Amino acid sequence: MNKTVVGIAFDDAINKREGKLAAEMLTRLLSRLYPKLNLINLTGKKDAADEYIELAKKINSRIEITKVKPTVIVAVSQKPLSKEYLGSRIFYVGSDKWVAKFSDKKPVGCGNSEVPFAAGAVACVAVSNIFRVVFQDFINEAALDGDFSFSLINLDCSDSNAEIKEIDVQDFILVGFGAIGNGAVWALANTPFIKGTVTIVEPETVDLSNLQRYVLAEERHIDKAKTDIPQVYNKNSNLKINVVPKTWAGFLGEKNNWINSSVLISIDNAKDRIGVQSSLPKKIINSYTAENLIGISRHYAFGEEACVACTYMPTEERKNFALEVAENLGIHRINLPPPFTIEYAMGGYLHGNKGADDQLLGWIASENSIDRAELEKFKDIPVREFYSKFVCGGILMKMKKNDSKAGAVEAPLAFQSALAGILLAAEYVVEKGRLRKSKLPNVSQLWPLAPIKKDINPRSFIFTKDNTGRCICSDKEFIAAYQKKYPAPVKQKSLTH
Ligand SMILES: [Zn+2]
Repeated sequence: MNKTVVGIAFDDAINKREGKLAAEMLTRLLSRLYPKLNLINLTGKKDAADEYIELAKKINSRIEITKVKPTVIVAVSQKPLSKEYLGSRIFYVGSDKWVAKFSDKKPVGCGNSEVPFAAGAVACVAVSNIFRVVFQDFINEAALDGDFSFSLINLDCSDSNAEIKEIDVQDFILVGFGAIGNGAVWALANTPFIKGTVTIVEPETVDLSNLQRYVLAEERHIDKAKTDIPQVYNKNSNLKINVVPKTWAGFLGEKNNWINSSVLISIDNAKDRIGVQSSLPKKIINSYTAENLIGISRHYAFGEEACVACTYMPTEERKNFALEVAENLGIHRINLPPPFTIEYAMGGYLHGNKGADDQLLGWIASENSIDRAELEKFKDIPVREFYSKFVCGGILMKMKKNDSKAGAVEAPLAFQSALAGILLAAEYVVEKGRLRKSKLPNVSQLWPLAPIKKDINPRSFIFTKDNTGRCICSDKEFIAAYQKKYPAPVKQKSLTH
């Protein structure tokens, strides 16, 4: 890793607003993940790289800005890179308003609009591809992205776009200014066409380890309140930012005028998310990251659709055994060629009473960063027996714990959290601006280490409301309190969008 040089190449594409934002996001991400950065300035203007070098050094004062030929380059460029860079792996990024564009072959063009979301998102995806190249020996899903367009309006592989208009995003609350919140504020602060007020609720201070994942954090922010960061960064928008350096409970104790606000959740634990839902905001957009997963869930009709707490209910009753086994073996994120799923494959092992074969042991080894040879002793043991020894007997836990590689990949990575934040902010602006022509199901997910692929990654689906009666959204008192807070005109139900 210390030998790895990563590069950002840019030409006059950075004179376009979206190109400039992509280059900024690339610098913000790469300078905190890699020790050596080559800024390849193809603009013909000598000082064009200066602002990126300055930014990189603010983030990591020990970063080496080098001229050594990079292993891998992200190009924000109008022209293909010259033959000089043959041998480096090159990813071209660009965007057109709400549509992110990516190619491993040729420039894709950078727009000059005021929409930052696609430019920021494609930078995150490019950094994920760099990660997959550099760490290919450590991760299973090393497949790289090919050419794609990805609409941040419909969250699909289409060119769905929208013209720019002023959008009143009103008052809303962002709970949590961690890694996801940083990505969200980066995007919102670069959106000049929105007006409104965001209140950011976050009690903690920045520590050194946060710098790896917080796209807006610089070394000078260490030991300062996290909420010191957003206002300073907010130079390019008409959005007013209020900060409340308190916990959600502390915030509720002090304020009463938040009731009608939408709440965007970007905190990292289930307990606090459920706490936010229990305080009954009118609408919630929840964002989360898990191992190789980014999710956005929409909660606009408490009592009718799944609430935030539903999505964190113990899932035994929802899940079939094959999927549960796959999850417990840590292999549930494996993408098989459609129509096959890991659940289907696991069902085959279990119901066919098959033995643990090379394929299964290989999946377990790579998904959990375990040396394949260590699993050899389990070969051919019937899968049910293997499962009970290996998982229930705690062998998997032990093997994982003894391997630092696994931990390194499991922590959400800077590009993953930043992308989650950008998607969260985009979701809210799209909603407020009514830019989406047809409603999406309540959950959208994206696998940041797997290639973007039509109908597969990202994917939106309906998460059903908990039907066990144990969730707060089935509780008569909670429903009555919600309805009292937000009395709906009779026909409102069909307009909950
Ligand atoms: Zn619920």
